[in-house]
Amino acid sequence: QRQMCIRDSMKYCGNCSNPMEQIIPDDDNRLRDVCTSCGYIDYQNPKNIVGVIASFNEKILLCKRNTEPRKNYWTVPAGFMENNESLIDGAKREAFEEVGIKDYDASLFMIYSVPHISQVHFYFYTKLKNMNTNIGPEINKVGFFSFDEIPWDKIAFNSIAVLISKFFEIGSNERPGFQTSREPYT
Ligand code: ZN
Repeated sequence: QRQMCIRDSMKYCGNCSNPMEQIIPDDDNRLRDVCTSCGYIDYQNPKNIVGVIASFNEKILLCKRNTEPRKNYWTVPAGFMENNESLIDGAKREAFEEVGIKDYDASLFMIYSVPHISQVHFYFYTKLKNMNTNIGPEINKVGFFSFDEIPWDKIAFNSIAVLISKFFEIGSNERPGFQTSREPYT
C-alpha cells in the first residue's frame, strides 16, 4: 500500500515538452499546471485507494508494511486503484498481490476521504474460508488478530485504526452496515 502519491507540479508539458507554469485558467478558480506553449492543462484530482478487511473466526487479517512510509507498521491490504478496473476488482487485486487471499465475496464496508493527501479510500469486508496467505514484496508479515491482540500502537495510519475499530464494533456475524465518515484522517 503506497500512501504518499502527491505528484509535484509538472515541469514540462506531456503534450509538447515546453515548460509548464502555475496559473488560474480562464473560467477556473484554482491554480493549475498549464503549458506556456500549447495551453495543455494538467488537472490533478484525488486518487482512489481500495482495500479489504478480511476476517476468519472473529480475527482480522493485518499485514506489516515492507516499504516506507510507516515501514514495519501494520495495516490491511490496500493500494491504488488502477485504470480500467472496478472498485471491488481493485480491492481484491491488491489483497491478492499483498497477502495472497482469493475466492471470496466481499461487500463495501467503509468510505472516507483523506483531503490533505487528496485520496479517497474504499474498503470491502469479507469472511475468509481459511487462513491461507501468501505475502508479496510490499509486505513482510501477515497475521490474524482478535480485538485484544491488535497492536494499536503499531497501526500504520489513524484511518486504519478507525477501520479496524468499526469492524469490531459491528461484529462479523452480521452483514456489516455501510460506514462513512467526515473525519480528517491521517
Ligand atoms: Zn504543451
